[in-house]
Amino acid sequence: MGLIIAILALALLIGFIGTLRHWFALHTGTLHGGPDVYYNFWSGFGSDLGEATLISAVGVGVYTGVRKVNCHTKGCWRIGHHALEGTPYILCRHHHPEVPNHGASHEHILAQHQKFKLNKEATSRPH
Ligand SMILES: [Zn+2]
Repeated sequence: MGLIIAILALALLIGFIGTLRHWFALHTGTLHGGPDVYYNFWSGFGSDLGEATLISAVGVGVYTGVRKVNCHTKGCWRIGHHALEGTPYILCRHHHPEVPNHGASHEHILAQHQKFKLNKEATSRPH
């Protein structure tokens, strides 16, 4: 998951910087002056600005990606895999009350499944 986010952030960044360079070059007049079209701009404040943009673009990209997949518990940065029934929240296994923190044995999983099936039958039976 982290790799996908990194690739997405990078792709976003490359496109973003490309657009930005052209936009700045046009609007700062560097496109038609100097030995190199970007020389005037990038040797000046542009180099600092480019760096700041790079850092913030990566930050925003990663932040957005993480916000989408992480646990909904405030301050928790684990990946959320488990929807909590009856709520709109998706939680990591650490915060989900019904997901064990440690691995469960196959028997344990089957027992839980069996319990669920019995519960379902009991509630669907006409009264
Ligand atoms: Zn969590």
